Amino acid sequence: MRMNDNVRRVTIRDCSIGGPDLTVMGGPCAIESREQIFAIAEVVAASGGRFLRGGAFKVRTAPTTFQGLGWDGWRLLREAADAHGLLTVSEILEDAQIEQARRYIDLAQIGSRNMQNTSLLKALGRSGMPVMLKRGFGCTIDEWLHAAEYILQEGNEDVLLCERGIRTFETATRFTLDVAAIPIARARLGVPVIVDPSHAAGQRDWVECLTLSGVAAGGDGLLIETHPNPSEALSDGPQAVVLSEFPALMARARHVAAAVGRSIPVALAMSAAVG
Ligand code: PEP
Ligand code: MN
Repeated sequence: MRMNDNVRRVTIRDCSIGGPDLTVMGGPCAIESREQIFAIAEVVAASGGRFLRGGAFKVRTAPTTFQGLGWDGWRLLREAADAHGLLTVSEILEDAQIEQARRYIDLAQIGSRNMQNTSLLKALGRSGMPVMLKRGFGCTIDEWLHAAEYILQEGNEDVLLCERGIRTFETATRFTLDVAAIPIARARLGVPVIVDPSHAAGQRDWVECLTLSGVAAGGDGLLIETHPNPSEALSDGPQAVVLSEFPALMARARHVAAAVGRSIPVALAMSAAVG
């Protein structure tokens, strides 16, 4: 594939994002227990994943649903990631969480519903933490890129974008993955774009084809929800890839990556953190 050479590499610890290697981020929608997050971390690491994702402070549509484990969730996320040589990505909801979050989170996610929360954008910009800005599901590419500029303007260049689907008239999927937005946003802002097929699909049956199309469209990484037992998941179970199927999904994504001149690394040699 014709790589856009103007795309900035974002380096988080030992992980370089935006180059030929795609960055895989996998994990549950919400961290639920020690057993759950450790089981997932093991498979994500063994499948070539670099980041363990998991929400601890959840923005749920309805207030009566599971809102996450909070700080305990972040502690578990960190422990499980460290045990398997992974980095962590999780959504930060409020400016006030940022200082403490640094202990647990390597990449701060700004969720779709907060994309235009300019106070949070500026605060994360000032913090210098690497930030992944999800696209608001009702926002244009222009609005998304302007939101990213609030972070960049504070001098923070460690910014990733994440296409996670937009609301259209179609209801067969939860959202509509805007595949064209991947190369367009990447070229216009010059930052890496991560693809989240999970929230776009809303159902696990369609996660694979959206994953593959995101890789084909030049995404710099994948953010995929997976759970050992999705029918019992406390959040977003229907779209979670069954954990035992995650390695095969990565293997298929690897073929598409190769076809467009990119690669998805296989598992790192088990890191020193494990031994
Ligand atoms: C999530 O990543 O679990 C999430 C809530 O995503 P979004 O903000 O894209 O809905
Ligand atoms: Mn989710």
